[in-house]
Amino acid sequence: MALFRALRLLALAAPLLLAACVGGADRPAQRPAAKPQTSAIPAFTSPEARQCIADLGKAGVRFTPLANQEFGGGCSAMDSVKLLDIGTPTSNLGAMTCPLARNFAAWAQNAVRPAARKYLGREVVKIETFGTYSCRNIYGGRSGRLSQHASANAVDVSAFVLDDGRRITLLDGWKGSDDEREFLRTLHASACKRFGTVLGPDYNAAHHNHFHFDMSGQGYCR
Ligand SMILES: [Zn+2]
Repeated sequence: MALFRALRLLALAAPLLLAACVGGADRPAQRPAAKPQTSAIPAFTSPEARQCIADLGKAGVRFTPLANQEFGGGCSAMDSVKLLDIGTPTSNLGAMTCPLARNFAAWAQNAVRPAARKYLGREVVKIETFGTYSCRNIYGGRSGRLSQHASANAVDVSAFVLDDGRRITLLDGWKGSDDEREFLRTLHASACKRFGTVLGPDYNAAHHNHFHFDMSGQGYCR
């Protein structure tokens, strides 16, 4: 009986222990990957979603609309797109909700490019990100709220490559040379006008190497 009880306790504790092993900052601690299921709910049926798709087209962005997907554990990508071309090559862009994609493309076009010219006298040839959709909790914790990444509603931007080969990372550039600091702070300020939530290196240690942008909240800017 005691053995049975011990085994039962172990079985209950095992998933928690596993989850604790893969902790870390804003990135790891993915929830168990469930087979993606195409949702029965069709995508882009609401007027807002249709408007967003139209806006993306008008902005000269190339993208693929995605079928609604449910991944289990509360993770999903609804009314989402995959950006193919926003004018600047950008790494690791997976599913993004349409409003996030629309604002991200506008930020790249109307904030990143002009700021690079103004502060660095260069063109940005690549934007690097840590990705968009990821089924995980906030800060990769084993409990707590799901991250906006778990609903494809967030993107983490980590670096910019210029046409002279120079690479400006959030990790080094946020406290780097004057031109790097001005460039990155201008991008942060511009993002705060475009996304619901913006978190950068000044927010906490989990964001020391990237900007987190998501469409939740109303102008939370740190
Ligand atoms: Zn993030």
